[in-house]
Amino acid sequence: MRSICLSLLLFPVLLGAEDLRWFKGNTHTHSLWSDGNDFPDMISAWYKEHGYDFLGMSDHNTLNSGEKWVTEAVIEKKKIALGPKVLDKYNQKFGTDWVETRSNARGELEVRLKTLEEYRRKLEEPGKFLLVQAEEVSAGFGKAPLHINAVNLTEALQPKKDLQTLRETLRQNLQMIAEHAVKAGRPVLAHVNHPNFRWAMTADDLAHVVEDRFFEIYNGHPGIYYAGEASRVDSDHERIWDIANTIRIAELKQPPLYGVGTDDSHNYHGGSATPGRGWVMVRAAKLDANALVEAMQRGDFYASTGVTLDDVSYDKAARTLKLKIQGRPGVKYRTEFRGTLKNYDRAVKEVDAPAEDPQPRRLQHGADIGTVLASSEGLEPSYTLTGDELYVRAIVITDQLMENPAQPDHLQKAWTQPVGW
Ligand SMILES: [Zn+2]
Ligand SMILES: [Zn+2]
Repeated sequence: MRSICLSLLLFPVLLGAEDLRWFKGNTHTHSLWSDGNDFPDMISAWYKEHGYDFLGMSDHNTLNSGEKWVTEAVIEKKKIALGPKVLDKYNQKFGTDWVETRSNARGELEVRLKTLEEYRRKLEEPGKFLLVQAEEVSAGFGKAPLHINAVNLTEALQPKKDLQTLRETLRQNLQMIAEHAVKAGRPVLAHVNHPNFRWAMTADDLAHVVEDRFFEIYNGHPGIYYAGEASRVDSDHERIWDIANTIRIAELKQPPLYGVGTDDSHNYHGGSATPGRGWVMVRAAKLDANALVEAMQRGDFYASTGVTLDDVSYDKAARTLKLKIQGRPGVKYRTEFRGTLKNYDRAVKEVDAPAEDPQPRRLQHGADIGTVLASSEGLEPSYTLTGDELYVRAIVITDQLMENPAQPDHLQKAWTQPVGW
């Protein structure tokens, strides 16, 4: 399995490289179907108008299907910000022929939420914009939220909560998604979300739950702590990824994790969890949900918060990872090739975290995990493995703030997937 995945990643020519295109998408979005604060058709239109090729609407434990009415009072309460009424904006955008309202028994105005099948017909355009069925399977273990996005599923999946251990809970939810994919006869992507949301998961959890193949290296929700926190050792997302990859490859003989970028958008009228922050660029032959998921499962994608790559390739024979950055005037780029060498220090130390955390003790790993092996300021950086590395991945870092940063210091970056393992 490993060699098949790699050969497809390494030699996209097998798929007809000339026919492959990059598609921009976000797989993590919330609407009024759960705790987002706008109509799913409004949100989908926003993404379509902002240059996205695909969107996964991933409400908590529900698909956008069936009949659901929401009162205008609830909608306005969720808006948080000041400004025009949400229903007025909806009417203005789609027209009163499309918007369906009624008065309930208490005389309150209610609006019906459109189902994915309904708004898909309004907004999709072949080859230009695709809506992918998704769900955020929102499980938990004690105080720890364990959220996993299932992308391209066909029926709502109910989370399994509070099993024997945190890792077992994660594992069984991932297995449920994998079994659903088999039953549905289509590829379903599962990505574990925001390990630092309420400090739910550590790098060791992500390493040892080997059923997982994806995690969010960047999530645009401000409560996610991409940079971790000093009071919790090894909580920086970059460290989490490198530690998990190192343990998997060196100790468990398992593939590394792939990193996705997402929005986790909830707020569409101002507020803090707004859209347009993190996304994936997927290289596929066509804009089709199965093709996109299969490409991601092969590792043929990168995550971004503002950097575009014209190409990323790994030549297995030469053991060279190459990037072609789409340069913009006035922007400085630095590419860091990060990895861990085979002779890394495996010693760990148990360290206390804040007592209120779901995991009040965490493992501190050696400083030589996930070090910068080389860096480059050019637009075509490359790295040839010497044979001493367990894996290498590239991060392109600019000197520009993100257009709409989740935290004031978040820069435009891109992350490629680990290679050479
Ligand atoms: Zn979540
Ligand atoms: Zn979410």
